[in-house]
Amino acid sequence: MQRKDKIKHAVETQFDLIIIGGGITGAGVLKEAAENGLKTLLIEKNDFGSGTSSKSGKLIHGGLRYLQNLQFKIVRESLSERNWLLEHYEHLVKPLEFIFPLYESKLKFRIGMILYQLMGKHKALPKYRFLNKQTVVEKFPEINTQGLKGGVSYYDGVTNDARLVTEVIFEAEQFENTHALSYIEVTNITDEPEFCSIKCKDKIDEKEYGFNGKVIVNCTGVWTDRTLNLFKPQHSKIMAPSKGVHLVFSISKLNIKSALVFSSGANDGRMFYALPWEYNTVILGTTDTPFNGSPDEVNEDVTDTEYLLNGINGFLPESDFTTKDIIYSFSGLRPLFDEKVSSTDKTRDFKIWWNSKNIISISGGKLSTFRAMAKTLLNIVVAKKTLITRQINQSMIQNNTSNIPQHILNSYSPKAVQLIKTIIVEKPSNEERVIEELVIIKAEIIFAVKYLQALKIEDIMLRRFSFKYGLNNKNYYTELVTNIGLLMQAELGWDNTTLEKEITHCLN
Ligand SMILES: Cc1cc2nc3c(=O)[nH]c(=O)nc-3n(C[C@H](O)[C@H](O)[C@H](O)COP(=O)(O)OP(=O)(O)OC[C@H]3O[C@@H](n4cnc5c(N)ncnc54)[C@H](O)[C@@H]3O)c2cc1C
Repeated sequence: MQRKDKIKHAVETQFDLIIIGGGITGAGVLKEAAENGLKTLLIEKNDFGSGTSSKSGKLIHGGLRYLQNLQFKIVRESLSERNWLLEHYEHLVKPLEFIFPLYESKLKFRIGMILYQLMGKHKALPKYRFLNKQTVVEKFPEINTQGLKGGVSYYDGVTNDARLVTEVIFEAEQFENTHALSYIEVTNITDEPEFCSIKCKDKIDEKEYGFNGKVIVNCTGVWTDRTLNLFKPQHSKIMAPSKGVHLVFSISKLNIKSALVFSSGANDGRMFYALPWEYNTVILGTTDTPFNGSPDEVNEDVTDTEYLLNGINGFLPESDFTTKDIIYSFSGLRPLFDEKVSSTDKTRDFKIWWNSKNIISISGGKLSTFRAMAKTLLNIVVAKKTLITRQINQSMIQNNTSNIPQHILNSYSPKAVQLIKTIIVEKPSNEERVIEELVIIKAEIIFAVKYLQALKIEDIMLRRFSFKYGLNNKNYYTELVTNIGLLMQAELGWDNTTLEKEITHCLN
């Protein structure tokens, strides 16, 4: 369905649930509601996943460090979700080895590793093992060897967070009566006795719309307080976000195949990690500082960058990382609760609470636990409201994968592969590469526009693909942006002024 038809249909529908916020939390709730046969609409004010959910550390993990605080329940639940994701999203959630060089006794780590392994055993993940000093030095020749005793190797999952969000939304929209709309901002919420209505502003065509639903689910993460203020202006603040910054380097600067975990070196008890990632990059993170500004304007400052560079230079003294080596950086806000008003502390646990008879909020948690969060929320909603649920199964996909390039089979779900194939059958030239230097073909861009609702070039460059992370310093970058713009123009009917504006915006 085209966007304008979808909006028209949504305006005329009385939904069971309206979800505000298209990050991983909203996406998870949308999919869970769809599978339970509820009529559901999701509204996102920017691109899907453009909030915290595209600025995470990309780990699908149990949270080894929470074991230190004896938070067994959260670790067990996260590991069980990690294992489920490794199986059900194997094209998006991949196993990765983590190596933690040890400068102290192995005993503490041995206990931690045994517990982590026991709680989250998975057939695709090799068992942890201790490494001797020589092996660690061979793997990381630039490492600070003073006091180095050896290391420990263990496995967790890694993903592309933004793609995970759009994939979950895409899957949800395969069910009847399930819709997601991006670039529409909720500007007002009215709570009636039996239902709620929301007013929205469409940022694409500048029009205003209203939608109705029996229950509103507020999934706006660090915007939670702002959203609650839309219907209860005296609402007292509950969120206390913390900022996390990541820096991206070329793998040629730090040639690693496993992720490295190490101390920040700043005596603050924080751990950093360097993660080999897409397009030959390494992601280094992260910081954790209280944030009081507007969640719409989050940027790293010199202190953040220096803190991260000092950390890696202390750990790998031979490497000498400088600001010149940074090819991209991103900053996100953790949706944490204010400890003064919430008993949920900074453990990354989530919280669900009713704000009125028909409005419920869910916030906190982790990318890794989105499904468990959504299931808990839906149980609470269904127990209180008279919503008729029924188990719906997605139709089986008859997958014919002949002639599909291998990179597509490795990185898309079977349903997506089928749709990409259809795009090629309709027009064989869509099998051509977008630019010669990359394996990505035109049909993948068209798929991202048609089915993953990319509406701006930046949505493609940053969130449907992560071109901006690793390719923005390449000489073919302008050609890539332009060719993507031309494909989007054909799909979305842009005039030349819009195309030019989009390209310019993306290149600046
Ligand atoms: C630095 C950092 C590292 C992290 N690393 C990890 C990790 O490695 N692994 C892990 O599991 N978790 C990690 N997390 C946690 C995880 O990223 C978050 O818990 C999760 O992304 C939060 O998702 P969300 O959907 O609740 O919020 P968001 O992704 O922020 O989504 C909320 C959405 O609501 C939208 N919105 C707001 N107001 C409105 C409105 N009025 N109308 C319509 N839409 C609106 C916003 O645009 C936004 O897209 C990390 C977090 C940070 C900050």
